[in-house]
Formats: sequence, structure tokens, C-alpha cells
Amino acid sequence: MKSKDAKLKDLHFIPRCDLCLKVAALSQMRCGSCNGSISFDYDKKLPIFDETKSGISRFWSRLPLVNPDTRITLGEGGTPLLKVDLGHENIWLKNEMANPTGSHKDRQISLAISHAVHLGKKLSAIVSAGSTGLSNAAYTSRAGIKGIVFTGESARSDRVYPIHILGSEVIRVKDDIDNVIDKLTELSAETGVYNSSTARHINPYQAEGPKTIAYEIYEDMGCAPDWMIVPAGGGGTYAAIGRGFIELFEAGLTDRIPRLVGAVPSSYNALEHGHNLGYQSMEEIKKHAIGEGIPTILAKLAHVYPPDAEDALKMARKLNGYFLSASDEESMDACEFLASRVGLYTEPSSGTSIAVLRKFLASGAANKSDKIAVMVCGSGFRETVTFSEKRPFTPNAINLDAMLENITL
Ligand SMILES: [Zn+2]
Repeated sequence: MKSKDAKLKDLHFIPRCDLCLKVAALSQMRCGSCNGSISFDYDKKLPIFDETKSGISRFWSRLPLVNPDTRITLGEGGTPLLKVDLGHENIWLKNEMANPTGSHKDRQISLAISHAVHLGKKLSAIVSAGSTGLSNAAYTSRAGIKGIVFTGESARSDRVYPIHILGSEVIRVKDDIDNVIDKLTELSAETGVYNSSTARHINPYQAEGPKTIAYEIYEDMGCAPDWMIVPAGGGGTYAAIGRGFIELFEAGLTDRIPRLVGAVPSSYNALEHGHNLGYQSMEEIKKHAIGEGIPTILAKLAHVYPPDAEDALKMARKLNGYFLSASDEESMDACEFLASRVGLYTEPSSGTSIAVLRKFLASGAANKSDKIAVMVCGSGFRETVTFSEKRPFTPNAINLDAMLENITL
């Protein structure tokens, strides 16, 4: 097993620059020569599945984990795959709400904090009042290192309170959130502060986490689906799930790679728009900003410039995938539909996946026999305030002697 001081030559992965292909050190988040993003070459002779390990460490051969046995874990992964009938007979929901902090980001942050601890870091910082901030707070607490979560000035108290309880310092910054992200990236490069950001060009180690969703779906279904609907905010999860299925295909385990349909908010649909117009670069997306300043309850998916857009657009072209959008109202309707039909209470940003599923089925793109996987990734229990503000509900109050007559089918 790899020691804490593992050298690159002893590892099953090699960090390498996407652009100049130079090998990077384990401590580098970007290429030291050309500033390119980093990907990992894996020893493809190793099997993808290792049943002697537990959780996402079972897939250590395709993850940049120096030591899978000392991974910082709260029991992430291994989430249920539920067969449901939502207007098509072959739909499977991958319930990522079952992760420790209620979203798939725990897979990524487990890898990031494990990397931070391997490097001897005593602090991890992140910019987010959403899923990643919450996850980072949980995993820094688990690792016994300090967590700092920077948020925008208007971050809601019900979102930052759990981060505070989990032991992270929460600091609101009076500036545009994109400027805060840029500033932390700059400070991390200058000072070595560990940045757990879930954008691949800022932290490539976390970016491999969502591949494990593809592996688990394959395991539970016994094959790869024909289609998969994935919520796409920054685009990193979409791209990584695609990489996971490609690796299964390359290992000869499946004869198909699903077409990925990215679910995006209607008012922040840079990925849908960019894909439809054939964009390939962030420059093209930046030239045509979409959504800037538009209020939305789908905040966890709302990016004017999705940080992993280039990866997501490239993956969509490669797998013949595409993106569909849904509005705030459609997403909330879909949450109510899913909750009442299946018993899963999702946050609005995950309702977008179900709203897009309904549009996808209505489009007739899927054949009757096609297998469709849908990722549902954020627990509604974290966003009850959003629901109650938009769709207030006050139960009837009755007298004691009226209880019997109110018990009706
Ligand atoms: Zn380079």
C-alpha cells in the first residue's frame, strides 16, 4: 500500500497537464509550465472494481487517491438506485440525496480533503453557501482540519447555519461571488491554502468524484443505461459521469455509453445555448453572457459562466448528448410530482432533473425499451425555506371532536 510520502512513480495515477502534457507534482492544482488544467492517467491494467475496499475506495484504481485506506470518509457513495415508473417503464433514479450532507458533492469533497490531508494541509477554504460549502465543512470537521467557507454577502442564514455548526468559519464577502472565487484561487496559488473548489481547473482531484456515480449505476443495473439525465450547473459532474462510462466501455465491461442529457435552469442555460450553437470555449460563452442578475430559486445550478463548461460541451459532443432547460416553476412542480409519486423530497435544483425528464420523454427521443437513469442530487430537507416562501402552506386547525370526521380516504 502507498505510504504517506508516496512518490509519483509508485502510484497508480499520473497527474498530467491537458495542454503541454507535462507531469505535475501531487501538490499542483494547475500546470506549473503553461497553467493548463490537470487530468490523470491511470494504470488501465488495474480492474475498476476492488471488492476488498469499501465505499468509493472500491474504485481507487480510477481515482487520484494516494491511499484508499486512509481516505477521509463519512460514508459517501453506495447510494440507492430506484426503479420507478414516471411515464416510462425503464427509469432508474440515482438517489444522491442519500449522501452524508444530502448531495453528490460529498464524493468530490471526500477526494479533495483526502488530498489536502495527504499534502499535510491544516486548512481548506472554499467559496460556496450551497452544497460544496456544506460538504467541505463536514469533511474538514471529519479530518480534524480547519474549514473556512466564504459566501456572498446575501447568503441565507438557513444555508450558512449548518456550515457554522459543522465547525467551519463562515465569512461573507461584500463583492460579486465570481470575484470572490477568483480572489480565493489567486490567494491559494500564492499562499498554498488548500482550495476545495469543485471546478476542475481549480482543483482537479475532486473532479474525479462523480465518475463513481457511473460505476455504481453500472453495478446496480448490470449494464450501462441508454440515457442519463444529469443536473448540470458548473458542468463538472456532467463531464465526469461521461468519463466514468467511457472508462467502463474501455475496460470492456459495457458495450454502450449512455447519451447524457444535462438539466439546466431556463434562465441560466449557457450550456444548452452553447451546445446548440456549437461553442467549444469559455471565450465564446463569455461573449454571450446568459442570466446575469436574473433571480432564480435554482441557485445551485445557476452559472452565467459555468466553470467546467468546456469539459461539459466537449463531453456532450463526444457522447452525442445535449442539454435541456426547465424554469423555476417547472422545477417546483416536478419536486411536488416526484414527492407525491415516489416519496423522494428533492430541492428545487434537483427538481430540474425531473422537469427535464418529463420534457425528454415528451420529445419521444427514447424508445420504449431504452433504459434511462436520472440523477437526483440534492435533498429537499435543506431547502424547505425556499419551498415555503414560494408556495406557503398552513395546515387546517380543527377542534378535538372533529378529528374523527377528518380521517377520510
Ligand atoms: Zn502545461
